[in-house]
Amino acid sequence: MTVSTITSPASILNADLHCHSVVSDGTLTPEQLAERAKTNGVELWALTDHDEIGGQHRAAAAAHAQGMRYLTGTEISVTFAGETVHIVGLGFDPDNPDMVQGLRNTRGGRGQRAREMSDGLAKVGIKDAYEGALKFVGNPELISRTHFARFLVESGVCKETAEVFRKYLTEGKPGYVPHRWASLKDAVNWITKAGGMAIVAHPARYKFTPNEEYALFTEFKIHGGRGVEVVTGSHTAQEYVKYAETAKEFGLAASRGSDFHSPEESRIDLGSLPFLPGDLTPVWELLADRIQ
Ligand code: AMP
Ligand code: MN
Ligand code: MN
Ligand code: MN
Repeated sequence: MTVSTITSPASILNADLHCHSVVSDGTLTPEQLAERAKTNGVELWALTDHDEIGGQHRAAAAAHAQGMRYLTGTEISVTFAGETVHIVGLGFDPDNPDMVQGLRNTRGGRGQRAREMSDGLAKVGIKDAYEGALKFVGNPELISRTHFARFLVESGVCKETAEVFRKYLTEGKPGYVPHRWASLKDAVNWITKAGGMAIVAHPARYKFTPNEEYALFTEFKIHGGRGVEVVTGSHTAQEYVKYAETAKEFGLAASRGSDFHSPEESRIDLGSLPFLPGDLTPVWELLADRIQ
């Protein structure tokens, strides 16, 4: 199966290769996401739950039931230069034992971290946040800041999740707990050795100096990383241009994905972003033989 047998030329394919289900911190099931993606005109889809591939077989089946093509996906939490960086993996074998174990280890610290977050929130008068967040969790191994944010909105502490992050869940705020995630090298290796492609997610979101950002892309390439998200729900139009240049400078393929989490919370819907700039190599062109 080659991409050209789908319907559109490669760069104007409606591919959405980044979103989240209830298997991590999204609010829709893989089946509901597939239906929504199809309704919005998505031709090639990937579900990329945080540190989790438990939804992959369901997502592939749901994509096929909707008549969409599918790439396996995940979004791995990595610590690089003291900052959390997300690495998207696409087109890997979801049953690869090293990948399965690596992601299990990455998820491992989330329970303890969540209890510490709850302790921090208790100190500023927000009680039982751990129990409150748990009500929003679809996968007990994957409690995330997003679930705390939903609880604080539900209980009236904040109006919306962005406000919760700003006031309570980011560095220096009462519910923030620093956490050590996977190494960049391990994350890229798990994906690559399982037959997939590693991609730097939403690079504009990291608070790196130009030197640190250069180091990220340089080391990412050395470890075998091959792609960067250019058109994502986290980027502005100027950032599409900036990271299109980065893709060319580092010889990386370009990806496109909404990072959709929830109809109530996400600004950008599935399949609704601009197409990739035509002078970039789309990741799906290099992953043509991994498309299901
Ligand atoms: P965690 O993996 O538990 O640290 O949670 C990270 C998740 O929180 C991200 O994947 C986003 O879904 C969400 N998130 C991070 N920053 C913000 C923000 N400023 N506003 C809303 N959601 C955010
Ligand atoms: Mn998320
Ligand atoms: Mn992310
Ligand atoms: Mn994401």
